[in-house]
Amino acid sequence: MEKDGSKDSMDAFARECRDRGLKVTYQRMEIFRVAVSTDEHPDAVTVHKRVKKRIPTISLDTVYRNLKLLAAHGLLAVVGTSGEHLRFDANRGPHHHFTCVRCGMIRDFTSEVLAALPLPREAQDLGVPLSQHLEVKGICVACEKKEQRKKEAPRHKRDA
Ligand SMILES: [Zn+2]
Ligand SMILES: [Zn+2]
Repeated sequence: MEKDGSKDSMDAFARECRDRGLKVTYQRMEIFRVAVSTDEHPDAVTVHKRVKKRIPTISLDTVYRNLKLLAAHGLLAVVGTSGEHLRFDANRGPHHHFTCVRCGMIRDFTSEVLAALPLPREAQDLGVPLSQHLEVKGICVACEKKEQRKKEAPRHKRDA
């Protein structure tokens, strides 16, 4: 499925909803369109803010319930939390995550090396694996720059 909220990807989404017995409502379509148009792995609050531009009356609760429902049907993935908020991922292709421990940024990456990695026996012993993904935790480029600037700031003052 395309990852851009285009007509094709929305048609595919509508089809998959019907296959799963989910009603294809305007609200549900718009919620998914927002989720699929970004690789930020947004939480419900962020999705709500964006959906409100097109449906001003929609409540955060409606957005949250729809996201959870789509996740329960495998149309979205839940990828960890930022504070108390669940984060949602509309990218259903195989991919991995880089999570920034400072700002909570979650970004996708793919890797041929990881794709070629055999599944560990220890995981197979625990059940039937359906997918595997790696989460790299770290400090994103933007946060790293900010910290560098903070470190350099006092020295600059002394120079001046
Ligand atoms: Zn960051
Ligand atoms: Zn992702």
